[in-house]
Amino acid sequence: MANFLGESYMDIDDPEVHEDNDVDMIIESSSNKEDDKERNFWKGSTNAKPDKFEIEEGSLELLRVFYKRFFPYKTYCYWLNYSIDPMDKPFQNREFNFVKPGDDEVYMRYLSFDTIEEFKNEVLRVCPKKIDIGAVFTAKPKEKKSLKLSALKPVEKELIFDIDMNDYDEFRTCCSGATICEKCWQLIAVAIKILDSALREDFGFKYLLWVYSGRRGVHCWVCDERARKLSDDERKSIASYLGVIKGGAQQNKKVHLYKNSLHPSLTRAHKIIEEYFERVILEDQEVLKDEREWTKVLECIPDDGVRRRLDDDWRKNSSRHSTEKWDNLLAELESSTKMTKKADSLRVCKIEIMLQYLYPRLDEAVSTKMIHLLKSPFCVHPSTGRVCVPIIPEECENFNPMVVPTISSLYNEINDYDRSHVKNDGERSLHDYEKTSLSPYIKYFDKFVQSILKETLAKNKAAMQMSMEF
Ligand SMILES: [Zn+2]
Repeated sequence: MANFLGESYMDIDDPEVHEDNDVDMIIESSSNKEDDKERNFWKGSTNAKPDKFEIEEGSLELLRVFYKRFFPYKTYCYWLNYSIDPMDKPFQNREFNFVKPGDDEVYMRYLSFDTIEEFKNEVLRVCPKKIDIGAVFTAKPKEKKSLKLSALKPVEKELIFDIDMNDYDEFRTCCSGATICEKCWQLIAVAIKILDSALREDFGFKYLLWVYSGRRGVHCWVCDERARKLSDDERKSIASYLGVIKGGAQQNKKVHLYKNSLHPSLTRAHKIIEEYFERVILEDQEVLKDEREWTKVLECIPDDGVRRRLDDDWRKNSSRHSTEKWDNLLAELESSTKMTKKADSLRVCKIEIMLQYLYPRLDEAVSTKMIHLLKSPFCVHPSTGRVCVPIIPEECENFNPMVVPTISSLYNEINDYDRSHVKNDGERSLHDYEKTSLSPYIKYFDKFVQSILKETLAKNKAAMQMSMEF
């Protein structure tokens, strides 16, 4: 196994491009709400208004170059096979969904592949503007039509989480809509830190793959065997355990804690939030800046008197900075806990507000169903052209979505490299990705997949030894 990753990803022969003769389904809107709003821009869409990405003549060609020269087919397929053995059920019975290039949302559902070559050939032939990954079934999804309905049941799937900036829009002040900047990225970064530690420490999961969604969100793929085999009910319990934020934009108070004791998981989350609250919420987002904003915070306080006193004070001194207003709020809560019957509620109120702003806002529906399709790592976001690259959770604060490679920046980088670099005798030929800024992301993905495969290998060895002993 040591060097399966050492070989070129591109050592599979490129297929010929065939005439398209699929029978496709034009389907329902995408399962991912971020993508529901997408307009296609591949191939001549006139309605597209991408945020930071210029539509270029032939962008479909750029996508084709990406799939041909950069997509890490081998590591990707071994990842989904969860074994270094030849492709087996976990890969072969996995549902893929391709969205064809073009203006319409034309979905190719229930695709599955027997080998890495077959997968790669189909990707190159179709040049999908999006690839979704679904569950592993009891049989090959591509044989759906010849199978009895009962023969095709989902049996496993990574536990997945989706965090979207959309859910922070009710208080995000630096940007709105599809835009994102380094300031509001910190909201996502804190969410990653909290969810990552909860999944590792509360559930003991080890293999968490965090992936940038290409525009303004992240996905987490929990790949441990135990996570992949969770039933829908078990997924629901985990999602509900982590669903601390209740209610949408219409509901003001979204966190309700027990008065006297804080769950250890929330104590840990609160500790993480304490590090960031002042900078991210008070300084960057200025959530107490004007009346419209501070009213949302005051509505989390369960005492009319406290609310009124703060509101009066801030109206008279509205130019006070949010950090100073927060100090006023803390002082008011502190003095009021001594005189009111609601002392316990007021004591936890500060923590409730902090959690409300920085605890991860999860799209629970994504996590609860094994059959839910999720956009694949390393595909390209249809409206930004950015590659959905993995994020190292420990470094998520420094991750800058604005510098994630796009298919056109990669195209330029590789051309620049090839133009300026003369290969010396004996020098190893680099993989195309190594010539570009995609390199660290693919190397991280390689390492991640290797670590899972090593564990499977060790498990299989141990099982073999056991069976030989008996
Ligand atoms: Zn922003």
